[in-house]
Amino acid sequence: MKYNIVVVGGGTAGCAAAYFSAKLGLKTLLIEKNSYLGGTITGALVVPAMKSVQSILNNDFYNIFTQRLYSLGGQITYLDGNKGWINPELAKIALDSILADAGVDILFNTYINDIFIQNSFIKSLSISSSEKINLIPIDNDANILSVSTETTTSENNNSLKLSEYIETDYVIDASGTQIICRKANCRFIDDNTNLQPSSLRFIASGIDLSKFKEFILEYDKDREATTAGVINNEIHLSTACTWDKEWALTPLFNKGLKEGLLNKEDLAYFQIFTIPGMPNSVAYNCPRFTKSINNNDLYALSNEIIAARKSMLRLINFCKKYFPGFEGAYISEIAPEVGVRVSPRPVGKYIYTIQDLKEGKTFENPVLVSNYPIDVHSDKRDGAKLEKVYKEYQLPIESLISADYKNLFFAGRSISCDFYSQSALRIIPSCFSMGEGLARYIANLSNQ
Ligand SMILES: Cc1cc2nc3c(=O)[nH]c(=O)nc-3n(C[C@H](O)[C@H](O)[C@H](O)COP(=O)(O)OP(=O)(O)OC[C@H]3O[C@@H](n4cnc5c(N)ncnc54)[C@H](O)[C@@H]3O)c2cc1C
Repeated sequence: MKYNIVVVGGGTAGCAAAYFSAKLGLKTLLIEKNSYLGGTITGALVVPAMKSVQSILNNDFYNIFTQRLYSLGGQITYLDGNKGWINPELAKIALDSILADAGVDILFNTYINDIFIQNSFIKSLSISSSEKINLIPIDNDANILSVSTETTTSENNNSLKLSEYIETDYVIDASGTQIICRKANCRFIDDNTNLQPSSLRFIASGIDLSKFKEFILEYDKDREATTAGVINNEIHLSTACTWDKEWALTPLFNKGLKEGLLNKEDLAYFQIFTIPGMPNSVAYNCPRFTKSINNNDLYALSNEIIAARKSMLRLINFCKKYFPGFEGAYISEIAPEVGVRVSPRPVGKYIYTIQDLKEGKTFENPVLVSNYPIDVHSDKRDGAKLEKVYKEYQLPIESLISADYKNLFFAGRSISCDFYSQSALRIIPSCFSMGEGLARYIANLSNQ
């Protein structure tokens, strides 16, 4: 098969990139390892999207997405004007239909095996429905398939075809895991030892939101921390409590700790939001991992996942006891994917820095404009950083263009920038803008 563009990763940035590539006339293939689109939004249950400036730049995909979700009953505009309150399950359905409208070919449950490079161009990819299988020829006279490469089929058995070859003019790595960059042996930015804790999020249902709303608005008068209202005939609210400062909910959490309902790690970061179209439910922006680990450390990762699921049980039991309205609450969904805040970032034509961001440096070809703060999570009580920015900032297209390959680009949380600027750039609206801006740039290139 031959495509103009292959987008690897059907998540936040990848969906926007694929949609606009196809809309702008490029024959587009989107490759996704899961069986749904949306990436961190849907797989890691990360909702709502953060509020940022109503940017005039590359905002179309975000508008199309929120409008489609609204028509499905899965979006509201919150009290603060943030239209990013979205339903993660309906988001899967909305994205399927939006990308179908544009004519994107989508391959789910698909993995990249090999990439083929010539003169600094990625010429083709081999893909399959599983991780790469290296079949070893077996010198045995039994009924063994005598195959030596993964493209070979057994004699007279085409159903065992293992790989598909895809030729392409351009590749966008929107995997967040840098799958293409790593396979292509790209250079990475050398501050990759800097980490932030990931989270495993969940949803609880069976909640009397009306009762909880009355309680929480009365209990917590800080409208920076707790807000609630009725929007589109649904109750919506949000509240939080973290270990690095005193919140209205802190005494309740301390009680839970004293009674043994909670562990001290459960107090690190607690935040809940309601979800459009899911009455009686809230999304937990926690538990957060107790350590900032490298995701390639599989033993540490697995231990953190198990610990996070135990923490969910403690949190729900704590809420049932201390939050009026939560008496009948139960865990209705645990995110299938870990929510990863930061990962290694490949070297692009421009490495964006925290100085660029703080100064609000302008560029000839920006892909996004934002004012979202520097937001670094930490596993240390005094290690987090949430720093407002006073100027709108831009990200240049050059931070999405590989320095190593002529037709390789990246978009999303893993782009060419330093650790601190990534903590501001990674939010959902900015990832959408990156995907859209990049698609527009590549469509222009291909027309030249
Ligand atoms: C815990 C947490 C809380 C957050 N809170 C907020 C918030 O409140 N608001 C906000 O706006 N932002 C928030 N963010 C940030 C934001 O959600 C993410 O940074 C953003 O969604 C990442 O988008 P992306 O396109 O880079 O990656 P993703 O959306 O993760 O997409 C990557 C896609 O690539 C696919 N993929 C990976 N490897 C392969 C492979 N080998 N082959 C094929 N496909 C592959 C994945 O399955 C996925 O679909 C949060 C992030 C986390 C982790």
